[in-house]
Amino acid sequence: MDFDLSWVLWGLPIAFVLGWLASRLDLRQLRIENRQAPKAYFRGLNFLLNEQQDQAIDAFIEAVQKDPDTSELHFALGNLFRRRGEYERAVRVHEHLLSRADLSKAERQRAQHALALDFLKAGLLDRAEDALRKLEGTPYEGQALLALLAIYERTRDWPHASETASKLDASGQGNFSGRQAHYLCEQAANAQPAEAEALLRRAMQMAPEAARPGIELAALQRRAGDARAAFNTLIEHAEAAPAAIPLLAKPLTDAAQASGEQDKAREVLHQSYELSPSLDVLEGIVALESDPEQARAWYVKHLEREPSLVAAAKWLSGEKLEHEQFHKQVQGALDHATKPLTRYRCAACGFEAKQHFWQCPGCQAWDSYPARRVEEL
Ligand SMILES: [Zn+2]
Repeated sequence: MDFDLSWVLWGLPIAFVLGWLASRLDLRQLRIENRQAPKAYFRGLNFLLNEQQDQAIDAFIEAVQKDPDTSELHFALGNLFRRRGEYERAVRVHEHLLSRADLSKAERQRAQHALALDFLKAGLLDRAEDALRKLEGTPYEGQALLALLAIYERTRDWPHASETASKLDASGQGNFSGRQAHYLCEQAANAQPAEAEALLRRAMQMAPEAARPGIELAALQRRAGDARAAFNTLIEHAEAAPAAIPLLAKPLTDAAQASGEQDKAREVLHQSYELSPSLDVLEGIVALESDPEQARAWYVKHLEREPSLVAAAKWLSGEKLEHEQFHKQVQGALDHATKPLTRYRCAACGFEAKQHFWQCPGCQAWDSYPARRVEEL
């Protein structure tokens, strides 16, 4: 009995001391590990600042392994992967974040946004669309809607683009009526004539100052054989959108000749030309002139106002030169020199094209092509 008791008397303090030592050891171990995680984190940051992204990724992976609960490190790592073009790894990091139960609502939304960006950058548009749609009602909604709009435009999904633009309009992100008009015009291009006309009229109502809907409605009416309706549409449109007159000068001239309305067309074109002399309006006026000498005189008149090589070449093409045999070569050289001057140029990216585009094929901007030719810019 005595022997047993002495064991207890000795054993208790020893056990206590051993337990205390063990706990100290554990705490020290933990502190070392905790200190190591930020160390790796700072090392990663340092690499980032030195633009050594590979080493930064390694350091962040180490930090994440040591401290799997931090979300901030995961975000940093995910963004790095995306920037490096390693989309699969970025997606894995962000999906891992989303699957965690301990994440706050704000962090979950942030991870969802980051995931959407991964899919966008990877070009996985259908998955990006799903991810972006989940951001409705979050602080990322505005950005998400803009990204969705870009996706719908790229995939030419005009009904969805229109719906998204309405939401952006309603949320005060800017005026999207001009874009909406384009979406309606795009839908009209693939619709049956009656439906196309309804769509174009809606576009004209939505954005009366937009150049495109009136011009396309007139083209539709011309295709249906109704030159008079086309002419009336263009005359009304010229009044509603005077800046578009250079673009509609040619169809207006054609419709006027087909419907016998040359006088009215001449009046509108002369008026526009007086306000701002445009090459296309000048061409319309010349086309409506019945006397060829009178027509050529218009080029001289234009040259008095604008030093236009294009107008000079046009005037010269009707001129009888002293050395008639060289006329063809001289004219060929001039036409070659003036060709680039009659192009249209995107104001956003500088892309030049022979025809006028409503949406730039270079930078995808809408209405970035002025109604004027390069020489007139
Ligand atoms: Zn452009």
